[in-house]
Amino acid sequence: MSEVLNVEELFGSKVFTLGKMKERLPEDVFAEVKRVMDQGGELSLATAGVVAKAMKDWAIENGATHYSHWFQPLTGITAEKQDSFVTHPDAEGRMLMEFSGKELIKGEPDASSFPSGGLRATFEARGYTAWDITSPAFLREDATGVTLCIPTAFCSYKGEALDKKTPLLRSMEAISKQALRIVRLFGNTEATKVIPCVGPEQEYFLIDREKYLQRTDLLFAGRTLFGAPAPKGQEMDDHYFGTIRERIGSFMQDLNVELWKLGVTAKTQHNEAAPAQHELAPIYETANIAADHNQIVMETMKKVAERHGLACLLHEKPFAGVNGSGKHNNWSLSTDNGVNLLDPGDTPNENIQFLLVLACVMKAVDYHADLLRQSASDVGNDHRLGADEAPPAIISIFLGEQLEDVVKQLVETGEAARLLEGGKLETGVSTLPEFAKDATDRNRTSPFAFTGNKFEFRMVGSSDSIGSPNTILNAIVAEAFCEAADYLEQAEDFDMAVHDLIKKYMTEHQRIIFNGNGYADEWVAEAKRRGLPNIKTMVEAVDTLITDKSVKLFERFGIFTRVELESRAEILYETYSKTLNIEAMTMIDMASKQILPAVVKYTKVLADTIVALNGAGADASVQVELLNEVTVLLKEAKAALNALKEVEAKAMSMVNGKEKAFFYMESVRAAMDALRAPVDGLEQIVDKDMWPIPTYAELTFEV
Ligand code: ADP
Ligand code: MG
Repeated sequence: MSEVLNVEELFGSKVFTLGKMKERLPEDVFAEVKRVMDQGGELSLATAGVVAKAMKDWAIENGATHYSHWFQPLTGITAEKQDSFVTHPDAEGRMLMEFSGKELIKGEPDASSFPSGGLRATFEARGYTAWDITSPAFLREDATGVTLCIPTAFCSYKGEALDKKTPLLRSMEAISKQALRIVRLFGNTEATKVIPCVGPEQEYFLIDREKYLQRTDLLFAGRTLFGAPAPKGQEMDDHYFGTIRERIGSFMQDLNVELWKLGVTAKTQHNEAAPAQHELAPIYETANIAADHNQIVMETMKKVAERHGLACLLHEKPFAGVNGSGKHNNWSLSTDNGVNLLDPGDTPNENIQFLLVLACVMKAVDYHADLLRQSASDVGNDHRLGADEAPPAIISIFLGEQLEDVVKQLVETGEAARLLEGGKLETGVSTLPEFAKDATDRNRTSPFAFTGNKFEFRMVGSSDSIGSPNTILNAIVAEAFCEAADYLEQAEDFDMAVHDLIKKYMTEHQRIIFNGNGYADEWVAEAKRRGLPNIKTMVEAVDTLITDKSVKLFERFGIFTRVELESRAEILYETYSKTLNIEAMTMIDMASKQILPAVVKYTKVLADTIVALNGAGADASVQVELLNEVTVLLKEAKAALNALKEVEAKAMSMVNGKEKAFFYMESVRAAMDALRAPVDGLEQIVDKDMWPIPTYAELTFEV
């Protein structure tokens, strides 16, 4: 039996929570902190000093020796530089651990090696980290000891954002301001801000660490670059929500405890569709904290997996032919007095504020579908979106039967008198409770689905930060709110004006609504007919960042400058090329040094057998046939290897940028596929004992 866990006590024990600040700070200092947290502005250096001391004392009591400014550069993962609290000893050689207000609020890592897309030439290495007071500091324990981690934003000398947090914070301010204008129009005078709330569901794979270490591709690329399908995949649907295996269960328990200590509300866990695939969902919270917490979730998953002799794969498509991993980004808007703007209530057809918000979301998502799609693109996600698996790369909104019917009535007649009811769920068993059914069923194929009181953006990749998708969502909806408020604030007859505006937006943007099967080929044709963009790959999506339409949007709300956008585009191209370069080089390495040599050995075994059988006067025809089959594939593999080397050399000689990224996508990827095919064919006929790397069956079923 495991020991009894006191989760209430554990929860947040490694976080410098508001409660701890209240306990440890003088009243006036606490009040100032709270004010800046809620309303923005700056802490005085004196106040920061008091906070820093309290934070340090708490951290030291909990074993910390170091602190770090924890930030999210454009690599997509987190970075930090650790400093100890050690100070210069006095004349008697005594040293006092210290941490100043200045050290709390500002850091200056030598940042020249982070991607900046030309924003900061390497001779101008200065980059600043600035404390994000709205996201609590926490303690991280690992082999280096205990470190006080301070969530920070990361900017250049000129204040240009070099990270994922800064634009997210800017977008949150923008949507708050514009959403407030909307709620004021409906008579809400109390709310002082509107907060985007996010609950990201995280999918991941767990495999045995020993086997993981035997696969260079998993080690370097995070995904398998070779691998024939296992005889069994996910076709029996027996893994999804299936019983959790012991080893995985103990990983999950350990993971939950670590996350609870860090104040992450790990809530839901289950097995996912593919073998060895699982999911974890926390309870939703303020967008920037959710983004920080999601980074903590991903890091903790990797760390805890190691402890259990497992490896956690966060790549979007670690195994070809079975489900990949995503991150469902559940998003809603809540006033600070707790009203969810996306809550339709019992009678959405009569809830004018909700209908206006819905109309604005429809407009935003339709008008900026390209940007939203871009926000969910990363290199790994190209293997999911628009490739072999849903959601498709085409953005559409699923509203469910009830709301779709409301929209239809509004578009047709300007009124929505009818409301389809959910009805009762009848099981036919008298002892089971009767439920009121949800008015909408689920649609698993939609990229952007309304699910009761929130939108679920399902395109995001499993390894990606949720910073960008939420920045874009906030920005595009802020713009729609702003335009609606500009119009409605001037209206003489508000009721009439809002009625007309809802009808207008819904009519103009109803093409974005799609309740059908997003997997079907018919949808691709239908979407094309409707004029919806279908951007299939990450590199093709990059330019959406720098269209006039998006520059106008971002500059208007102070979220990105044109220069920041251009630098991000440049980084994306570079990231793509670098990732593909690693993948191609890894394939070349594995094929040259592991796979082809193993196959050559196998051909010798066959040849020796044939000679022996012939000498004995026995029938060697099967062995000859096998040898011929192997030889054909071996030749094909060798030719493909040569071709990949050639095309990779050409790619490497190109200067970074758009052209290079496109070359990788079009030519290098094709050459990689051409090498993979014969190798996977060989895997299926070569003696298992001689195959040099663990197979899909061993990786995904022997956990
Ligand atoms: P599923 O989509 O798998 O049925 P749930 O309904 O449990 O999952 O919700 C998934 C995620 O959505 C959770 O992280 C949950 O906290 C989050 N969520 C629930 N309500 C909201 C909301 N109003 N705003 C944002 N996220 C929400
Ligand atoms: Mg979900």
